[in-house]
Amino acid sequence: MQRLNPLRTSMPKKIAVYPGSFDPITFGHLDIINRGLRIFDEVIIAVAEYPSKKALFTVEERVGLIREVLEDNDKASVDTFDGLLIDYVLSRGASVIIRGLRAVTDFEFEFQIAQMNRAISQDVETLLMMTSVPFSYLSSSIVKEVSSLNGPVNGLVPPSVIKSLNGKYNR
Ligand code: ADP
Repeated sequence: MQRLNPLRTSMPKKIAVYPGSFDPITFGHLDIINRGLRIFDEVIIAVAEYPSKKALFTVEERVGLIREVLEDNDKASVDTFDGLLIDYVLSRGASVIIRGLRAVTDFEFEFQIAQMNRAISQDVETLLMMTSVPFSYLSSSIVKEVSSLNGPVNGLVPPSVIKSLNGKYNR
C-alpha cells in the first residue's frame, strides 16, 4: 500500500534525510552533507541502528562524533532511526533521501534501494549525489582497516574521529 505524506501540502521547508551507518563519519560523508545543505533548507543525518551490522562505534558514539564535526549548523541535525527508512523520512516531514555514489559498484545497490523506496512511497525522492573526486575511494570500512593497522587516516576523517579511532585501538 502507498504511504502518503500527510505534511506534503503544508510543508514549505525542503527537508532531506541523509541515512547511513556513519561508522565513523568521514570527509566523504561531510562533503555530501555540505553539498546537500546548499540544496535543502534542512538536512537530517540519520544514523541507522541496523542490528545485523557489526559496528566499531556504538550508535551514540557515532551521533556524538557527527555532532562534534557539524558544530552549530542550524540547518543540519543528527538523529537515529530503526525500522523502515521511508516511515522515518515521512515522520520527519522530509521528502528527499540523499545517498552518495562513489563508483559503479555503489550504483546497483543504491538503484535497487531507491526503486524499492519509491514503490513504498512516491512522496519521497532519492537523490544520488556523485562523490567529489578526492573522496571517491573513501569509505568508513577502509578508514577502520587502515587505522586498525596503525596507518595514517589524517585527511580522510576529522581530528576528533582520529582521536576516537585511536581510543578504540588502544593507542
Ligand atoms: P551505509 O551502511 O548505509 O552504506 P555509510 O555510512 O557507509 O552507510 O554510507 C552512507 C552514505 O554515504 C551512502 O550513500 C554512501 O554511498 C555514502 N558515502 C560514503 N562514503 C562516501 C564518499 N566517500 N563519497 C560519497 N558518498 C559516500
